[in-house]
Amino acid sequence: MAPACPMPPSRLPPATMYGMVRSDPYRSLSFWHDTVPGTLAPGDPLPGDTQADVAIVGAGFTGLWTAYYLARRDPALRIVVCEREIAGFGASGRNGGWCSALFPASLAKLARMASKDAAVAMQRAMHATVDEVGTVAAAEGIDCHWAKGGTVMLARSPVQLERAKAEVSEAREFGFGDEDLRLLGPAEARELAGATGVLGGTYTPHCAAIHPARLARGLVDVVRRAGVAVYERTPVLRVEPGQLVTALGTVRARHIVRATEGYTAGLPGYRRAVAPVYSLMIATEPLPPAVWEQIGLAGRPTFGDLRHLIIYGQRTADGRFAFGGRGAPYHLGSSVRPSYDQVPAVFAALRRTLGELFPAVGEARVTHHWGGPIGVPRDWCASVGLDRSTGIGWAGGYVGDGVSTTNLAGRTLADLITGTGSELTRLPWVGHRSPDWEPEPLRWLGLNAGLQVMSFADHQEVRTGRPSKAAEFMGRFLGD
Ligand SMILES: Cc1cc2nc3c(=O)[nH]c(=O)nc-3n(C[C@H](O)[C@H](O)[C@H](O)COP(=O)(O)OP(=O)(O)OC[C@H]3O[C@@H](n4cnc5c(N)ncnc54)[C@H](O)[C@@H]3O)c2cc1C
Repeated sequence: MAPACPMPPSRLPPATMYGMVRSDPYRSLSFWHDTVPGTLAPGDPLPGDTQADVAIVGAGFTGLWTAYYLARRDPALRIVVCEREIAGFGASGRNGGWCSALFPASLAKLARMASKDAAVAMQRAMHATVDEVGTVAAAEGIDCHWAKGGTVMLARSPVQLERAKAEVSEAREFGFGDEDLRLLGPAEARELAGATGVLGGTYTPHCAAIHPARLARGLVDVVRRAGVAVYERTPVLRVEPGQLVTALGTVRARHIVRATEGYTAGLPGYRRAVAPVYSLMIATEPLPPAVWEQIGLAGRPTFGDLRHLIIYGQRTADGRFAFGGRGAPYHLGSSVRPSYDQVPAVFAALRRTLGELFPAVGEARVTHHWGGPIGVPRDWCASVGLDRSTGIGWAGGYVGDGVSTTNLAGRTLADLITGTGSELTRLPWVGHRSPDWEPEPLRWLGLNAGLQVMSFADHQEVRTGRPSKAAEFMGRFLGD
């Protein structure tokens, strides 16, 4: 892994920008890191060999929520978190800020894996998790710019409209009503998000827009106050039963938790477990109120449209667009490097797409470009679990839907580790084992072909007005 700061100092924002300390190199990671209050200077590294009850690798949302709920459950537990960079360095600090009820596997797939009731229970748990994040943030005094405005997904072609209808009818088959997901007519959809070419869409209330780095940095302060030792700049070299071996010493513990998501392939023994696929984002300068009057997004619902190559956005608390999408390449050997966060062609495509959706954005400047790896398991199904024979627990494979799912993972791991039987430990993702990815270069070929096909399928659907067979085939190949 190359050094942390992905941008040379000459590209850092001016010293006075947002009243932040420019000397924090981690500020340049994303718009969110750039605008989070307080310092991003790393905390103490692991001082040497130590003992704990639970040792966690990774201080993203998964690691921090797990530490949070464990410490609440049993304040006497000795909990150590080892983080290679700083808390919130990875996807947790850089994402689109959709705290949603999205789970990467569909209801139909969960029903096939377990049962219809289990799929419904999983979805209900995701709904409740959105509120849990908001409740804890408020209770702990973390101002993460929480706005529970739901999500509007726009249908901007007849094929996308059919997809919207299919999603709503799948929800109905599983007993979810209008209060969970409803179809929007064109006028209502346009009223929510005044984009071009809108034929309709869907709306769910189960999503909040947040400032993710504020949540991640707020959480690390909270867990530290609860007595958790979070060591930063502490790379873990190996995850083994009963110990985390780091470059600075060994942490011995009965329970180990792997919370490394998009970086997992860098750990010995996990090379083919989770593939890092890049998601990239841009943020505009703040837009004037008159522009927002034309665009809408009042109440800050998150938004996207129903194309195959995912796009997602939010209106930030300070009146910008934070807008992202897929399309950046997967790198051979599941390698992760800071330079992979910067793909000018994808940034240009995102800016173009934002302008096509909302022409009122005009010539607004893009002030930040960034990206990061999401973790994709071979069967596209997130999982959480604890192997009782080794004491090693894990959570991840969220495929870009981890902001809230990590909270459910943290609560579930706390239950599993403390031996508390609960509704959470009976959910269908618990103990699920995704198969390994193919060896290289097959993984590289499959994932990059998948990205190309999704992009091609979107163009094809616009041209033909019919659903793309290629996208359907690729969806099946990739495990849906
Ligand atoms: C650009 C982007 C946009 C996204 N948008 C959304 C969204 O809007 N909504 C949503 O739900 N999800 C979104 N996601 C996904 C979501 O952010 C992640 O699923 C979630 O944050 C994963 O949290 P995590 O703690 O498991 O992983 P991470 O936040 O990636 O944390 C893993 C941590 O482990 C550390 N680490 C790794 N290896 C080691 C090691 N060997 N030793 C020590 N430390 C190590 C890393 O430095 C990192 O801090 C997005 C992701 C990206 C990149």
